[in-house]
Amino acid sequence: MDQQWNATYQNNIIPALRRLRKVQGVILGFHSVIDGIKRVKSDEIETILNANLDLKQSVQEKIYAMPTEIFSPADMMAGLLISIKSGKSYRMVIRDEVTFRWILETFGYDQLKLGGTSGCMANSLAPLDLQKILVYTNPLTQQLLELFGENDNLYVVSQVDENIQLRHPHKAWQHKGIEAIHWGFEFAQGTTIQLDKITLIAPRASRFYPCWNPVNEKLLLSPSFKKGVLHFINQFSHFIVSGYQLLSPNYPDGTTCIDYMLSTLSYLNELKVVRPTLKLHFECDTIPVDAIRYGIRKHVLPQMDSMGLNEVELDYFIKDMHGQTLNQLDQENSVEYYFGGLVELATKSGLERIHLHNFDYYICLTKRSQRTSPKRTRQAMMLSAVIAAQRAETGSVGNKTTFNSAKAISISEEGLAQMAALAKHISAPSNFMKTGIAECNDYNVIFLPTKIVSDPVSTVGLGDTISSIAFLSE
Ligand code: ADP
Repeated sequence: MDQQWNATYQNNIIPALRRLRKVQGVILGFHSVIDGIKRVKSDEIETILNANLDLKQSVQEKIYAMPTEIFSPADMMAGLLISIKSGKSYRMVIRDEVTFRWILETFGYDQLKLGGTSGCMANSLAPLDLQKILVYTNPLTQQLLELFGENDNLYVVSQVDENIQLRHPHKAWQHKGIEAIHWGFEFAQGTTIQLDKITLIAPRASRFYPCWNPVNEKLLLSPSFKKGVLHFINQFSHFIVSGYQLLSPNYPDGTTCIDYMLSTLSYLNELKVVRPTLKLHFECDTIPVDAIRYGIRKHVLPQMDSMGLNEVELDYFIKDMHGQTLNQLDQENSVEYYFGGLVELATKSGLERIHLHNFDYYICLTKRSQRTSPKRTRQAMMLSAVIAAQRAETGSVGNKTTFNSAKAISISEEGLAQMAALAKHISAPSNFMKTGIAECNDYNVIFLPTKIVSDPVSTVGLGDTISSIAFLSE
C-alpha cells in the first residue's frame, strides 16, 4: 500500500504545483504580529521575584487562583509559574500598558520572529513562487515589516498622503517601535522555582504566551488597507481570513466580539460585490473563548467558501454543536468521530469545502455540486503534504518542491489504518484504499494518508502551510 500511495503522490503533485504558481494573487488578513521568543531559566525568574518581595507575595497568592488576563506584573509572573508548574502552554492577553513595558524591560526577548496566521503564511508561501501575496499588517512599523522575507512577490498596502500603492514590506514601514508583541517564554523540562513554601518543577518543556496587541484587539482594519484592497481587488483571486482569536468576548465600552466580527465580514462582503469570483477561506486557530467560536460558526463560516482546521479545533466545534463542555480536549478521537464532526460542521454552516489536517491523515469534504473534481482536490492535498514533510525534515522553507526529496519519507501506517476504519464506517467503494475518494450526502470525501517525518527538525506553523497550499492549489 505504501508503494502504491508513493506512486500516486509522485504522479499528482506537479499539476497542483503548476496551479499554485498560476494563482493570480492571494490576500492574507487579518493577523500579522511580532513574536518575541525568550528562553527563561530558574535563576532569572527567582532573581526577579527576590528583588521585589511584594511582587513575590502577590504571585504566590495568584498561582492558586489563576488570573485570566494580565493587568499587573504579578498576573504575568503567576501565569508563567502556572505554565511551568503544569508543563502546559498558556496564552494570556496583557491589558495594561505599564505591565507590557515592565515585561519588555525586565525580560526583553532573545529573538524576534514573524508571527500571526497571516504573517506566518506569507513567509511560508512566498518561496513557492506564487505571483502575488498581499498581507495585512497593522501598524506599519519597521520592526514588524523587516521580519518578512526578501521575496519580491510579497506586498503590503502603503499609503502616503492620497497615494495608495502595493509595496514590498521592507519598503513600506512608516515608523519605528514595537507596538504589539506576542511573547513565547520557553522553559526547559526540570526548570525549578523555589518559592517560600513550595518548589515548582516543570514536568516537561513548554511555553507561556503573554500577548500585547491593543492596536488589533478589536480587529478594526486599517483604513488604508481597506481602501487599497478595494482598489486593487481585481489583481487577486483568493483571500485567506484569520485572526478572530485576537478578539475579546466583551469590551469595557459594552461592545462584543460579534460586533467586530460582523464589521470584518461586511468588508469582505463589499469585496465580493466588486469581485464575485474571489474565493474566501477561513483558517481556524485554537480559540478557547466560547463566544468567539459561536460567532465563527454562526456568522463567519456561512460567508466562507472554504475552511481549514486541525483535530483539536474540530473537537471544540463538535463539542459546541453537541452542547458539551470543553474539559477533555487532550484525548485522541477516532477517525469516525472527526469525520462525523466535519460532515455536521460543513452541512450546518453550508461550507463548500472543509479540510481537516491531522498528524497521520487529512480529510477534505467538497460539495458535489461544485465543479472541482475530487482528484484535483486530492492533488492539492498531496502537494501540501509533500511540502509539509519536506519542511518538517529540513526545518527550512525552500522553493525546490520535487517529489524526489520526499520520496523516502514513508506514508503513515496509522493513516492507512484510519483509512480502513473510515472505509468501513461509510461503506466506501471497494477501491477507496487506493483512491481515498468516496461520497457522503452532498459531499465528495477525499482522504489522504500523509507522509510523516519520524524525527522532524521543526513543525512550527505546518498546519497553516498545509491548509493554505491545499486551498490555493486546488
Ligand atoms: P500549527 O498550529 O503549528 O500550524 P497544527 O497543529 O495546526 O500546527 O498542524 C500541524 C500539522 O503538521 C499536523 O496536523 C500534521 O499534519 C503536520 N505534521 C506535524 N508533524 C509532522 C511530521 N513530523 N511530519 C509531517 N507532518 C507533520
